[in-house]
Order: sequence, then structure tokens, then C-alpha cells
Amino acid sequence: MTDAEEIIQKVRQAGVIGAGGAGFPTYVKLQRPCEYYIANGAECEPLLQSDQKTMELYADEILAGMRIAMAITGANQGIFAVKEKYHHSVAAVETALSRLGMADAIRLHLLNDFYPAGDEQVLVYETTGRIVPESGLPLDVGCVVNNVTTLRQIFFAVQDIPVTHRFVSVLGEVASPQVLNLPIGTLLEDVIQLCGGATVDNYVVIDGGPMMGRPSPRTVRKTTTGILVLPADHRLITQISIDRTMQILRTMSVCDQCFACTEVCPRYQLGHRLEPHLVMRDISNGIGLERSVHFLQMAYLCCHCDVCRVWGCPAELAPGRVMELLKQDLHRRHLPNPFHEHPISVRSSRNGLRPPVSQLIKRLGLTKYERPLQVNPEPLTVPRVRLELHQHIGKPAKPVVNKGDHITARQVVADVPHSELGCPIHSPINGYVADITDHWIEIRQ
Ligand code: SF4
Ligand code: SF4
Repeated sequence: MTDAEEIIQKVRQAGVIGAGGAGFPTYVKLQRPCEYYIANGAECEPLLQSDQKTMELYADEILAGMRIAMAITGANQGIFAVKEKYHHSVAAVETALSRLGMADAIRLHLLNDFYPAGDEQVLVYETTGRIVPESGLPLDVGCVVNNVTTLRQIFFAVQDIPVTHRFVSVLGEVASPQVLNLPIGTLLEDVIQLCGGATVDNYVVIDGGPMMGRPSPRTVRKTTTGILVLPADHRLITQISIDRTMQILRTMSVCDQCFACTEVCPRYQLGHRLEPHLVMRDISNGIGLERSVHFLQMAYLCCHCDVCRVWGCPAELAPGRVMELLKQDLHRRHLPNPFHEHPISVRSSRNGLRPPVSQLIKRLGLTKYERPLQVNPEPLTVPRVRLELHQHIGKPAKPVVNKGDHITARQVVADVPHSELGCPIHSPINGYVADITDHWIEIRQ
């Protein structure tokens, strides 16, 4: 085994996956050569600050991980992308680049404060001027993108330290909003208690940020960037809780084909043939998959960023959510994705149509939760964890322990065969296996 193969194996064995929310197993990204290696420090979801704190505190470790990744993939240019307004993060990265003598190999790229600056395809264009093809990957244009937390985890993986904790922004209706270093598998109710409890009786917990996050009753996963606690009657909760039937009925009765959703869509702006207003037109005309598929198949190009709903549609319709439902239907019916063109230029209107994050926060009705968060960088310990078996893209992990087994922290408790896409899950605490279901393993101290 070569050194590179050994490191790739260590990254797999440490359970490193895309920590920014995607959950794609990182060892796969290290297996092919690239030209540009891009660190994603955009943290563009409104209100979240965990990546910012990670950059402020651990820029050296992120860069060390990036150096390893660049060496393995043969990347000759590193790009560290971070928003200009994250002054402390920018200063920490600049200092670390100079201290480690990496300023020639890695260029700092300062991003404007728009959403979704951290979307991989948007980030590749912003930092390199290259456009990822429709339905493509950054690697199609010689780039690999990793979240900054993922890069730090690569640094630990080569020291055989697995992913057991992560920084999570906990905010909204909790007594003490903060960024915590939480064990993977911590129950969300325990997280809320660690922050002094909820400040309202009826609340809903969103896993992630307010744009792409979803209501979640469960646990901290390797991909959990934020935990947003909102009153159950908050407008955002009402909007994202609309069910499938109501989404379709609202589209049929309200959409007036104004084109605003398409105009602001970041994938349309990149030159992709995603035109959500045409999808909504077919839906509002009652045309289902059985009669017409071409426009509906555009759903394959959607990244579900929700800009169309929050920044585009004057009627508060949600084309991105409709496309999420459509995508499930398309997959179920085995209808192929016909969109694979490679645009040669972005739309000329692009620069004027990127939504500023500060405006999104106002529109989402979240201004009262906007504040600098304190960080507690110490890894917390909790009396119980519930480790979900499907945290990554690929095959769910299968338990390799039995009920009643004694477990030590960092021990592998579930794994995926090496022939399949996926990686192991480790216990963050000492304890015993209290329960195993098809979906999770519970470990108690
Ligand atoms: S912005 Fe709203 S109303 Fe306008 S075309 Fe899109 S979905 Fe229809
Ligand atoms: S959610 Fe809306 S804005 Fe975002 S990619 Fe999909 S269609 Fe475009």
C-alpha cells in the first residue's frame, strides 16, 4: 500500500464525511487527482457560526489537513474561501498561512456576504471562474471542495483519531445560545438542556440552518452544523411544514408565472437549464409525471437551497420543496436525468441577484436571534448517545456490536463493507450498548 492509499484508508476508517451538511464520504474525494483544492469556509446559512469558530481556533489544523489532501490529490493550487466579513476567521487563516509557510501554495479568497456562497458549484465559480456542468461535480472541472471542519478531521484521521465530536451552533429559543463541541449522537433534547433549556413551551427544532435545515426530532449527526430552536408558530416553521398536497394545491391556485423564482435561482444563474417557473407551470396546470416529464425532470438540477422561496417568490410558494418531492417521484419511476450540458458562461444578471445574508435574516423573521455566539471548545461528554446508522451518503452502516456489549470511546460500533460507499461510525463515549434498532445504536454510560 502506498502512503497515499494508507492515508485514504485512515480517512475512511476515521469515519470522515462532508461535515458541511452533504455527508459524502471524504475518502472518495481523495481518490482522484485534481488541480484546485478548495477549503469551504463560507458558512453561508444565516445565523450559524460553528465553522467561523473552528477557523478562529484551529486554522493550523485545517491547513494541515488541507496540505495532506493536496499532497494526495496532486492539487497544485489550494484556495481557502472565507467570507470577508468573518474578520476573526480571516485573520486566523492569514496568520496560520504565513506561520506555516503555506501562503504560496494556498490562496486566501475573500467572499462577499451572499447566500448560497458555500454551495459547492457556486464556490467553484466564485474561486476559479470554472462552471461545474449540469448534474456534475467540482471534480469535472478539476476541483475538490471540502468544508473546513472536514479538513480538520482529515488532519486527525491520519493520527488515527476518528470523528466523535463536532462544533454545532445551538441558537434560537434557548436560554444560552452558543457553539458547543458535541458528541455525535447527542439527543437534541439533551443539547437544549446543555444550553439552559428552551425559553418557550412549544418549539420545533431545525437540524441545520434556516434555509436548508429541516425539522428534526433526533440527534446530532456528523453533518449537523446547527440546531435552531424556534417557536412552533414561527412563520418559518409554518412555511416549511406545508405538506405535499398543500404544496401542489397552493402552486395550482397561486403561481402567476412571474419568473422571479428562476431569476434568483443560483443554478440558473450559473447557466444551468433549471427554470423553476416552468416546473411550477406544469404543476399548476395539473401536468404530472405521467403526461410530461421534460420540465419536471429539471428537478434533478435543484440543490434545494430555498432561495426561490425566500428571496424570489412574491407569493411565498416553494419551488425548491416541490422539486424535492418531484425528485423522489422521478427516482421512484426510474426516469433518467437528461440534463448534462456544460454551460460556457454564467447569466449576465448573476451579480445583482445574489441575496445578501443580512436581508435573508430579516425576510425569514429571525433578526432577534442574530448575535455573536460564545464558543465552548472543550469536547463535552453526555450520559447517552444515539448513533444514527445512516449519517452519510451511501450504504447505511451496520452494527458490529451487540446489545449489552461494553464500549470504549472511539470504538467502531457500525461499519459498511469496503466494497460499498460509506464509512464506520464510532462511539464518542465509554459505556454499554443499551439498544439497537434498524436506525440507530444507543450507548449509555
Ligand atoms: S416566483 Fe412564485 S409565482 Fe412567480 S413563477 Fe415562481 S413560483 Fe410562480
Ligand atoms: S431551491 Fe429553488 S433556487 Fe435553489 S436550486 Fe432549487 S430551484 Fe433553484
